[in-house]
Amino acid sequence: MVVGINCGHTVSGTVGCGAVGILNESDETRNVGRRLEECLRKRGVTVVDCTNDHAATVSENLSKIVAMANAQRLDLFVSVHFNSGGGRGCEVYTYGAKKLAQAERVCENMQSLGFVNRGVKDGSGLYVVRHTDAAAMLVETCFVDTASDAELYKKIGADTVAKAIADAITGTKEELTMAQYEELKQMIAAQDAKLNSIQNALAKSQNKMIYNYVDKNMPEWAREAVKWCADSGIIAGDGNGLDLDDNKLWTCVVLYRLALKLK
Ligand SMILES: [Zn+2]
Repeated sequence: MVVGINCGHTVSGTVGCGAVGILNESDETRNVGRRLEECLRKRGVTVVDCTNDHAATVSENLSKIVAMANAQRLDLFVSVHFNSGGGRGCEVYTYGAKKLAQAERVCENMQSLGFVNRGVKDGSGLYVVRHTDAAAMLVETCFVDTASDAELYKKIGADTVAKAIADAITGTKEELTMAQYEELKQMIAAQDAKLNSIQNALAKSQNKMIYNYVDKNMPEWAREAVKWCADSGIIAGDGNGLDLDDNKLWTCVVLYRLALKLK
């Protein structure tokens, strides 16, 4: 998956910078956006940074963002913004208010963090949504000028917000639920058991040499000792021979040497 991430606006205090309330939009789009990029990369997503920090005009900022986004094929373009004007919660803009699964999940994940879910809205008029080639969504994370939103955001932190958006984009969660953990544990145990039985079978097939007689098939180092053990009645074969594997041969050798020593 290739995802373009735009930390909305230019940097704080320059032409094209974002809204300033209790929170500073340009600072926070970068706090969330950069963490979002990192989070996605850790999950194996190819991230293209489409952030423009400095521009002479707002339209230059917007066209530079779109140029970065359209310079390669993206599966999704995401622009991170913060809202202003008084209101509460998170909303996501897509072209024609298309109910992109990722957009709906952003709203749901933000809602589970405690923000009001304002839903997916029509962003056809927004420059970066309109002009990017890929499916696009512009996330209005929360309101910079509403105290309850700003407080909640500060309490939760940019890391958690970025992770919630990353979860929405990839449709997965980094942490496993207890149920998933148990399932995974069982899968690993089952694989372990399989591996064990394969290893046992392999070990058996590798040790399948059985010696029934003291003859040239038996390793020379063991012959004399085995013969002595058989002659002394320490080992005895059934009708089919002595049925000795390598370990038993070695045991015969040890017994024989011991006997020699004790003589
Ligand atoms: Zn904005």
